Amino acid sequence: MPATKGKRPASEKSKVNTGAARLAKLGLRSDMDLVLHLPLRYEDETKVVPIREADFMAGSAPQVEGIVTSCEIQYRPRRQLVVTVADETSQLVMRFLNFYGSQVKQLAQGVRVRARGEVRHGFFGAEMVHPTYKIVQEGDPLPTALTPVYPSGEGLSQAYLRKAIANAMTRIDWRDTLSPALLSSLQLGSFDAAVKLLHNPPPAVDEHALADRSHPAWTRMKFDELLAQQLSLKRAQAARRARSAAVLPVVGGLSNSFLAALPFTLTAAQQRVLAEIRADLVEPFPMQRLLQGDVGSGKTVVAALAAAQAIDSGYQAALMAPTEILAEQHFRKIAQWMEPLGVRVAWLTGSLKKKEKNEAQALIESGAAQLVIGTHALIQEGVEFARLGLVIVDEQHRFGVGQRLALRNKGASGQSVPHQLMMSATPIPRTLAMTYYADLEVSVIDELPPGRTPIVTRVLDQNRREEVIARIHAAALEGRQVYWVCPLIEESEALQLQTATDTHATLAEALPDLRVGLVHGRMKPVEKQMVMDAFIRGDTHVLVATTVIEVGVDVPNASLMVIEHAERFGLSQLHQLRGRVGRGTAASVCLLLYQSPLGPTAKQRLATMRETTDGFEIARRDLEIRGPGEFLGARQSGEAMLRFADLQTDQWLVDKARNVAQMLLRDDPATVDAHLARWLGGREEFLKV
Ligand code: ADP
Ligand code: MG
Repeated sequence: MPATKGKRPASEKSKVNTGAARLAKLGLRSDMDLVLHLPLRYEDETKVVPIREADFMAGSAPQVEGIVTSCEIQYRPRRQLVVTVADETSQLVMRFLNFYGSQVKQLAQGVRVRARGEVRHGFFGAEMVHPTYKIVQEGDPLPTALTPVYPSGEGLSQAYLRKAIANAMTRIDWRDTLSPALLSSLQLGSFDAAVKLLHNPPPAVDEHALADRSHPAWTRMKFDELLAQQLSLKRAQAARRARSAAVLPVVGGLSNSFLAALPFTLTAAQQRVLAEIRADLVEPFPMQRLLQGDVGSGKTVVAALAAAQAIDSGYQAALMAPTEILAEQHFRKIAQWMEPLGVRVAWLTGSLKKKEKNEAQALIESGAAQLVIGTHALIQEGVEFARLGLVIVDEQHRFGVGQRLALRNKGASGQSVPHQLMMSATPIPRTLAMTYYADLEVSVIDELPPGRTPIVTRVLDQNRREEVIARIHAAALEGRQVYWVCPLIEESEALQLQTATDTHATLAEALPDLRVGLVHGRMKPVEKQMVMDAFIRGDTHVLVATTVIEVGVDVPNASLMVIEHAERFGLSQLHQLRGRVGRGTAASVCLLLYQSPLGPTAKQRLATMRETTDGFEIARRDLEIRGPGEFLGARQSGEAMLRFADLQTDQWLVDKARNVAQMLLRDDPATVDAHLARWLGGREEFLKV
């Protein structure tokens, strides 16, 4: 007896566990998670239509019921199960290309079956290929609600999900988190009615409103979701204000002499954002600010001035960039600005020799290095800062949330964390930034330094390559410098490298009187640097490059850019690449070569590039083409929390949710807690960054 007793629960338990594990993969851990797992769409199994009628319902998926009149395995053209079903009006064939032996037995002659699927006209008349079906008895009742189809995952059947959700619905606390008065002022229905309707809509429901999610039940779900997002955002803000940070109040000797030594004056936009940053740095809680500005708008100097304030106030600042080329460029430029003013600048990347690395680390640890510039190497183990007051992350979208946090944590001690400034040239529309990022202030440089001439962009068929080569030849002879960007080959880095090497060889041959350089991601950092140096000095006329030059590279004399297979790049990538030219006073040209035929999205992207050089406009269109999830990259977005609301179409609800959030936080903390618990459960952590 003990043996059987021990056995049964064990096998049952493992079954439960795999089911639970599969649900967990979909993020469904609690009963409430399950209840809030709403259908993607519905199937109508509430009606049975006569087979003769179904025969005329091409394109829809009617349900029929009849008796199996034959069931046989056929071998031509391939092995398949063919089952004929008849009712009083007509007959049709159910065809299964994959099937189990058990199905052959199950669908024996004389059995009554209910089948649902799209009707097609095959060789033997009407047929359904792989219908969903079940064996029934005469007079078995039909469902009275539409059948929900849920987002699912591997190994999770709809039947299993339906049952799990139905069970969860018997266990949860259905009390509304919002008061009847608030709901009626917002003209929203109750939570339980909305949820129950969405899981089991009555046959008379407005199916279109369900499908496009404009049904009042959906509106309630979206509102709740947006409200939860707004509440957690505001709470995160409050939590940040409750933490402490070094106060960096001194805009002193270094800041002033640095400004005075600059060969240009700041634009009005730069001055404005600098003032915003300066004000944050004197607060006793950590700054969390995103500095957006189009490519070439001059973010680096603003960042350097923020660093100067930290240094003036007796703290260290760190600047992290996503590539070695960019980090090195920042290092040189900023060291050249600051070292004459007595600032000790340290440099740390993965490619340093062990001895150099140790030296840099010692400087950082002792506090002798006031400013530290580098790549991901900055967040590696063994790097300890003495007094890190400000962290700057350039091209922040290139880093994961975890990496940004790691740098910030380098300077954390107890409740105190460094101020954080993130920079990005991929402008995120302000409303999007506000609704997606948990707790982030945004500063925008919306003006380019004076004297820039706009870049002219042309879109050309790849078969005009010869013409293009002749054109860059002429331009180079006039003293202009050229970037030639090789196609992106996502599938294979080796192939991309090969293409770059080939392109370099072809161009060097076609342009024997010019010096043609090559830079790609597989070169050693010193090699890369030598190539870049030669280009910066003007020794190289044409620089063949992979996308390693995509971000940040600043060579003002380069005024011509050719991008091959431009149709393979995304909009923001093209914009970044193009931003490598147009940095000096010479009129710049960007030639986008494409391989025809172009798909509709590629066509749209290239047209956008030709029509505008405004990064904000480009970001807006990119968002339109790709949708917010992909635009921001799932890693960065709070996407997981917005499953139902759509920031484009539901903007009106965002505004309402924001107002209600403010009111509840002020007057009704108990409701705030209840609402967040229901909607976020354990997921709130995710939003803190
Ligand atoms: P990004 O915003 O793309 O990072 P950078 O900081 O690299 O742009 O600046 C682009 C170029 O413009 C650099 O050569 C920089 O020295 C120069 N620059 C920045 N601010 C000004 C200004 N106010 N006037 C003139 N040139 C400027
Ligand atoms: Mg930059």
